[in-house]
Amino acid sequence: MPLSDSFLNQLASLVDQVVTDPAALDATSHDTWPMTTKWAAVGRHPYRGEAIVKVSSADQIAALLRAASQAGVPVTPRALASSVTGQPIPTKGGLVLDVTGLPLALAVNETDLTVQVSANYLGSALEEHLNGLGYTLGHSPQSLLRSTVGGWLSTLATGQFSSLYGGIEDLVVGYTVILASGETIQLQAKPRAAMGPDLRQLFIGSEGTLGVITEVTLKIFPVAPVELLQTYAIPSVHDGLTFMRAQAAAGLRPFLLRLYDADEAKHAMVDPAFDSGCLFVGSRGLPGVAEAEFAALDELVRQSGGRALGPAAAAAWMDRRYDFSSVENMVAKPGGIAETIEVAHYWSGIEDLYNDLKRVLAPLADEVLAHFSHVYTQGTSMYMILFAQTADDETAIDRLERIWSTTMDCCLEHGAELSHHHGGGLVRSPYSKRSLGSAHLVLEKVKRALDPAGVLNPGKLGL
Ligand SMILES: Cc1cc2nc3c(=O)[nH]c(=O)nc-3n(C[C@H](O)[C@H](O)[C@H](O)COP(=O)(O)OP(=O)(O)OC[C@H]3O[C@@H](n4cnc5c(N)ncnc54)[C@H](O)[C@@H]3O)c2cc1C
Repeated sequence: MPLSDSFLNQLASLVDQVVTDPAALDATSHDTWPMTTKWAAVGRHPYRGEAIVKVSSADQIAALLRAASQAGVPVTPRALASSVTGQPIPTKGGLVLDVTGLPLALAVNETDLTVQVSANYLGSALEEHLNGLGYTLGHSPQSLLRSTVGGWLSTLATGQFSSLYGGIEDLVVGYTVILASGETIQLQAKPRAAMGPDLRQLFIGSEGTLGVITEVTLKIFPVAPVELLQTYAIPSVHDGLTFMRAQAAAGLRPFLLRLYDADEAKHAMVDPAFDSGCLFVGSRGLPGVAEAEFAALDELVRQSGGRALGPAAAAAWMDRRYDFSSVENMVAKPGGIAETIEVAHYWSGIEDLYNDLKRVLAPLADEVLAHFSHVYTQGTSMYMILFAQTADDETAIDRLERIWSTTMDCCLEHGAELSHHHGGGLVRSPYSKRSLGSAHLVLEKVKRALDPAGVLNPGKLGL
């Protein structure tokens, strides 16, 4: 239903700007998910807001959410739209809430090792500021240069060095969130709190469906004085996984740990003739400590058949770790497909899942690549990259749909996690109930309690 003039006039009195220009609405009907890029290429905008709302204060967000809840108008928060699953796509129209105009604030506490920032702070700007003071976030997603702190919380993001620092859920100290009612809630732990459940986890990963995050306090870490890197050739995925499991069980915490299968190793080594799997390994820490960990890792890799090749390839990867151009260039080609899908499983299931996914996806792409890069004592993530050239963008759209349904069905058959860090978004929303199982009921009840009019980012997480 189109927004009424009286509602648009009300909005205009509450916020900085209300944009209804069709080109701007088209632009916010897409994110960085290759599917929405293909929709844009063929002129399709199946999910389009009716107005973009630009705000410059938390009070404006509160007033806007109150008004939208009363009128039953959907509100989809949008930061930098680096989502690759359609998370900020306004599936039910209504308002796109552009949070990027909040005033930028930053306060470092060097005693408590925290940084408090506005939710719209750009990841790379924050990391650069901290590096200048001798600190790091420890959170280094590949999208660091194009994503915000609020986006990280809302998507349950994880960074490339998570095997040492943890995911965003481990790195958050506290934050402020505005509910659909307009009420402002502060969640914190100084540094741990046992008064009731840890409610800080409630909005992390909620994809803007439960509230709008306005400021965040994160942990920071002193930059480590020693950093050591090594590259290994590893005979097989089985050998690589055996090593990764052994090092996790031993309690080692390398900041860099990436295992590539033989197909992706050709890309990772930038050598089409490279003919085995490979591993990038790195240790950070105090002198003596980093070296000791590095030596222990080396011993374990060798026991799994690894052969050291020197630090150069791992160092080259560190230099290009934010580069996404191979995917973007392929998606930009007419009929070109490049898709990234990340899932996770226990150690007991990951190798069978890998073998089955490679088998079922092979007919759907020219290349099916895989790496394992976020490691836990109980299991690991698996990241698939698929490249294909199809006849045209309509064919590419059909193929992408088949790639996703094939992958999700295979993961469900294996009892694997359907997403490790890209979240549900539009693409995985239909699988949310099966993925969360009985816990989805809790999410539904929480949603009804916090957003009774159901206005916040409808159509996501199976809500
Ligand atoms: C090249 C590339 C590499 C990537 N690498 C990684 C990676 O290594 N690790 C990883 O985890 N992800 C990665 N991603 C995915 C994406 O960058 C993350 O999901 C990121 O956290 C999204 O941040 P954003 O600021 O762009 O949010 P958006 O994409 O704008 O929004 C994402 C979701 O969060 C909600 N949201 C945004 N801001 C707020 C807010 N203030 N309050 C409430 N809800 C909000 C939106 O409604 C939406 O549902 C990558 C993406 C790209 C394109």
